[in-house]
Amino acid sequence: MHDFIIRNALIVDGSGGKPFHADLAVKDGLIAAIGNDAGPARESIEAGGLALMPGIIDNHTHYDAQITWDASASPSPALGVTTAIIGNCGFTIAPCREADRDLILKNLTQVEGMSLEVLKAGTNWGFESVPEYFAMLEQQGVALNIAGFVGHSSVRTYVMGEDAPKRAATAAEVAKMRDIVLAGVKAGAVGFATSTSPNHNGHGGIPMPSRLADEAEMKALVGCLKEAGHGVFMLTKGGQTKMAFLEELAALSGRPVVVAALLHNNTNPRSVFDDLDAISAANARGNRMLGAISCCPLTSDFPMSAPYPMEGILAWKPALGLSGEAFKTKLADPAFRKAVRDEIAKPAIFRIFNGEWDKVYVAHAARPENRKWEQHSVEDIARATGADPLDAMLDLAISEDLETEFSALLLNSDERAVGEMLRHPHSLVSLSDAGAHLTLFNDAGFGLHLLGRWVRELGVLPLETAVKKLTGDPASVFGIQGRGALKAGHAADLMLFDPATVNRGPKVRVKDLPGGGARLITPAVGVQGVWINGTRVADDKGLRKLDRLPGKVLRQFGA
Ligand SMILES: [Zn+2]
Repeated sequence: MHDFIIRNALIVDGSGGKPFHADLAVKDGLIAAIGNDAGPARESIEAGGLALMPGIIDNHTHYDAQITWDASASPSPALGVTTAIIGNCGFTIAPCREADRDLILKNLTQVEGMSLEVLKAGTNWGFESVPEYFAMLEQQGVALNIAGFVGHSSVRTYVMGEDAPKRAATAAEVAKMRDIVLAGVKAGAVGFATSTSPNHNGHGGIPMPSRLADEAEMKALVGCLKEAGHGVFMLTKGGQTKMAFLEELAALSGRPVVVAALLHNNTNPRSVFDDLDAISAANARGNRMLGAISCCPLTSDFPMSAPYPMEGILAWKPALGLSGEAFKTKLADPAFRKAVRDEIAKPAIFRIFNGEWDKVYVAHAARPENRKWEQHSVEDIARATGADPLDAMLDLAISEDLETEFSALLLNSDERAVGEMLRHPHSLVSLSDAGAHLTLFNDAGFGLHLLGRWVRELGVLPLETAVKKLTGDPASVFGIQGRGALKAGHAADLMLFDPATVNRGPKVRVKDLPGGGARLITPAVGVQGVWINGTRVADDKGLRKLDRLPGKVLRQFGA
């Protein structure tokens, strides 16, 4: 007798094969049978021809801190995500000594978009090492399946303390880091993650520690994966990191290298394709590399007091870490403005903001006399006032004591280009950044966006191909066994949805973080049910109240 059976579903099994109508039976958390005579079950769910696919594997999340206070990693499971990979870009909270907790949380504030107060109020510290962190998650329970990277910046902080964001490591320090990475991967991490991106800064504008690593350190740490015999190396690449060096790392470790964040940039439209071409050439030479791309346009809502899109501009550096009057004085400084203007006039490979002033809008003006600019672009304001756009934006923000809220469409907005990236043989649909940038955007529903926008509305991908990109492909890249496909014996991680309506809903701002901090979330549209290891966690009204947490901390990965 099966536990339950979903009858008359359009099975999209994650392999990329043609969908077919059948029943799917579940017993003891596993798929027991798929077919038209699956046998009797205690409960029967009528799918009425709706589509049933494996749960989405979100390979780029930042739930490392949140998962310690919110076992459901909200909002992801309601959006069809049944497995989340955490620790991307190397931003983990383990390993961490008691004395370094503030240091580690400060590293996260900027990139995660959570205040230090929220992180301090919420984070549960029941661990020091990476294996202890995984053990703690197992003990507290998780609603969805979690796999975690060993994070370079935390490893560096553990070994080098306050010096981690300041200098290159000595050979002795690299040897210590190597031991930690290897022990973490052997204890069940999914790989090793790092960032060399100038967009990644900690509290007060201090660079994330991994950005200070030299090539010898990178080679030593990525090299651990060869010894471990499994694991993926992921990095968010700064413009100075060469593809040839990353291929060298793939060759020396013999492990897949996932290169993020390949976002299309209208002001330098070929650069992502150059990277994807380099990745194709590497694969042709037998070095497995993938380009992590996003199927969502990158937008950002920001006040000038926390201008994330601007912080990746090198000439912005003198303003990083300043606040109050000192910050306003810097923003008003003509020499500062000239340097920023000169830099954004030049093309760059990985820069979030590239001077597209027609795509930066005033979302909310603080003073009544400025309300007329709401929903107008900075370019509109500049044209109307005869000012230069950078001056127009900064002057408006300064006059409102930095309370103006802007909204920018930054990257990945050219759907013809993004469609080409989605069809690239070595691209990996990724970059939801769920759990991070909480006040700026929320792409946790990227999978529903892929199915709604790219499959139904634009017809760029057939349904079965899109489903494979969300399930079978990441399962294969990350060595996640027994998931990512609808097959007898696989885990019953499932999403039941209506292909005619599936989508993510509009952004909503909610104040549900520890201590009342705000974040953006999106609801699911057209999702009828989500099951994790055979337990239904969501229905058409969203996340259910769970009396037990069905997720697993995944600690074994295929080679
Ligand atoms: Zn990230």
